[in-house]
Order: sequence, then structure tokens, then C-alpha cells
Amino acid sequence: MDTAIPEELRMLQSTVRQFVENEVMPLESEYEEELPQEVRAPLQAQLREMGLWALSVPPEYGGAGINTLGMALVIEETHKSMLSRNLIGGGVNPLLYGASDYLKEKYLHPVVRGEARSAGAFSEPGAAGDLGGIQTNYTRDGDDYVLNGTKIWITKGHEADHVVVLAREKGTERQEGVTWFIIDADTPGFEVSRVIPMMGQTTTAEFQLTDCVVPSAHRLTAEGGAWQDAQKSLNGLRLMNGPQVLGLAQRCQDMAVEYAMGRKTFGSLLSERQAVQSMIADSEIEMFATRSMVHQAAMKADRGEDVRREAQMIKVFATEMAGRVIDRALQIHGAAGYSKDLVIEQYYRAVRAYRIFEGPNEVHRWRLGRNMMRG
Ligand SMILES: Cc1cc2nc3c(=O)[nH]c(=O)nc-3n(C[C@H](O)[C@H](O)[C@H](O)COP(=O)(O)OP(=O)(O)OC[C@H]3O[C@@H](n4cnc5c(N)ncnc54)[C@H](O)[C@@H]3O)c2cc1C
Repeated sequence: MDTAIPEELRMLQSTVRQFVENEVMPLESEYEEELPQEVRAPLQAQLREMGLWALSVPPEYGGAGINTLGMALVIEETHKSMLSRNLIGGGVNPLLYGASDYLKEKYLHPVVRGEARSAGAFSEPGAAGDLGGIQTNYTRDGDDYVLNGTKIWITKGHEADHVVVLAREKGTERQEGVTWFIIDADTPGFEVSRVIPMMGQTTTAEFQLTDCVVPSAHRLTAEGGAWQDAQKSLNGLRLMNGPQVLGLAQRCQDMAVEYAMGRKTFGSLLSERQAVQSMIADSEIEMFATRSMVHQAAMKADRGEDVRREAQMIKVFATEMAGRVIDRALQIHGAAGYSKDLVIEQYYRAVRAYRIFEGPNEVHRWRLGRNMMRG
């Protein structure tokens, strides 16, 4: 599989790996949570100078135009440190590529330049995995739309300058009437009602939309026609869950191997114990299988083929695989693995969310099985 990776993508992967190992990992002893802005900003400036910015954005919008396979390779490397997971910025919501010049100027270009932050809001208290159940609604009022509803679990939503919001025409149900809007965070009627600390290293936000007036120029998709777009953008996110958790898992596996080679119990190194060798072997096998799935699906996506099934399978397989690999690495480290002296406990908490967001794994299994039985 790896022989099919073009040389320029291997070089890109190696550049990112060196950056993470040399510039980011040494900071882990100082910062557990996110990097403070004064440390983050110079690192991001360095990344920009290296051309490591807005990687997936097409060149006509100021990005590097890296394909899906390239993004998978980069994302695995950035996820080897909790501190570099979101360091390469400039990525935009793909819905903006097809937006009007006005929206591109106002939202796409500032995000690519790293001057504005965006969030995506589809989840609600009553429906998140079940997107067809969303209740946030809009009505038309002349040239405007008026939105009402609640959104929840929005990653870093309180820090966003604007939010891409999924709403339905009032009175419609399930897949009918859903539309994406883009809303400035300072729009009257749009309020961050709660900031919610999460178990891993992130915070999410709850938003209230109360008679929030949004100009029709801020509609991102055809009225009522967002269902397919919503599914497509979720497929892309699910596929990238694969390399994200691979990065987390690989880092813990590397640490486990190194530790086992230096730790002696009962007169022998852990690396000489069959029980430990088996754990390391199982993790290696599972990561190899996941990486093969990810690369194959990424190449298929780059050929323009539909990868919905692959994205679902990767979402389930990779996220459960990473939980097991990180758990084994923690076990091999004993008390040290459970302590906050090492980063493993952070990975242990962070990886748990991946089985829930972008649709819970049980929902993907249900849909995969159901669709197979339907032929
Ligand atoms: C860290 C984090 C960040 C997030 N960021 C965002 C964000 O930026 N924007 C956003 O819009 N949302 C975000 N979310 C929300 C996320 O997408 C939803 O939590 C997820 O889709 C699941 O929805 P739910 O929490 O309502 O669970 P529910 O849909 O209520 O499901 C609860 C559980 O029930 C089971 N279940 C549900 N349906 C089925 C079924 N059909 N068959 C079998 N079992 C089933 C599953 O075990 C599931 O875990 C985030 C969530 C987390 C944890």
C-alpha cells in the first residue's frame, strides 16, 4: 500500500513529523492543555513560512491544495502530540468553495489567512447523532431569515467569529427543508449560553438563537437542499477520524516499546515478557490494518469516488482500535501510565470522544448493516 504514496507526500509527511518532534513535543513538559497564544502564534508563523498552512484548501483560494491522502499523512503526524493537533490552521468549511464572492471575501479568505475562526453547528440537545431530528428552524421575512433554536456541543464555539448553522424550514420534518446558514457571532439574537468543559482537552459551547435575523445572502446552500451537503461533509470528517486516532495510538505505542525496553521487573526486561510482546504485537497489527484502510479510502476519494461506506467503517474500526492501543500502552507503563507525569493519560481521555462524535459507532454499524441487507 505504502509504495503507492508519491514521493512529494512522503517528504511532506517527514517535514511535519520533524516539526512535531523537534518544535512541539519538547513543550509537553510545560503545557498540558493547549498552548498559550504567545507560544502558539510564533509556531504558527513558522508553519506558514514552511508552507504548512491551509493544506487542504484549493490553491485558487490561497491554500496548498493537498489531496486526501496527503491530509491523512499530515494529520497522523500532527496528532502525535496533543499540542499540535490543531496547530496547522487555515482550513475552511468546504461549503464556502461554492459560495458567493461576497461570502468568500467575508469568511473564506480571512479563515485561510488565519485572521478569523469558524465553528460548525448541527448538534442540538434533542438531536445530534440523529440529524433528521434537528428542531432549529427558520422562517422567511422579506430578504431575511429569522432563526430560532438551540445548538450544543460545538467545539470551541465560544471562540468562533462566525458559525455555520444547520436549520430547517419551520414545519418541515426529517430530511426535508434543511439549510446551512453562516452567522456572525455578534449577530443580535445569537448568544453563547454555556461553555461546557469536556473530558478530553477541549471545550464545547451551547448557542441560543432567538429571533436571530440572518440576511438571505448568508444562506450557504439552496433552501431546503442541505441534507446531501451535510452528509458529504460528515463523510470527510469521519474519514479523517482514522488518521487522527492513528496519530494518538502510534505515539502511545512508540512510548510503550521504549518503556518496555528499559523497565526491569523480577530480573527481566518487560520487552522479554511474552505477555508484553503480545500487547505490542496486537497494537501493531491493528494500526497496520487501520492505516491500510485509511490510505486505500483516501486514494479512492482522490479518484473522485464515493467513500461513504469506507468512511463509516474507518470511523468505527479506527476509533475502537485506538482505544485498545492506548489502553495497552497505559497498562505496560503501570502507575506511570496512569499518572500525569506522562501524556498517555491525556490520550486515554481524548480518544474516548471519537466513538461518539461524527455519529456514534453504534449508528454507523446499524446503517452499514441495514444498507448491506437492503442490497
Ligand atoms: C468532544 C465533542 C465535540 C463535538 N463537537 C461538535 C461540533 O463541533 N459541532 C456539532 O454540531 N456537534 C459536535 N459534537 C456532537 C456530536 O456530533 C454528537 O454528540 C454525536 O453526533 C452524538 O449525538 P448525541 O450526543 O446526541 O447522542 P445520541 O444520538 O443521543 O446517542 C446516544 C447513544 O445512544 C446510542 N444510539 C443512538 N442511536 C442509536 C441507534 N440508531 N442504534 C444503536 N444505538 C444508538 C449510541 O450508543 C449513542 O452513543 C461534539 C461531541 C463531542 C463529544
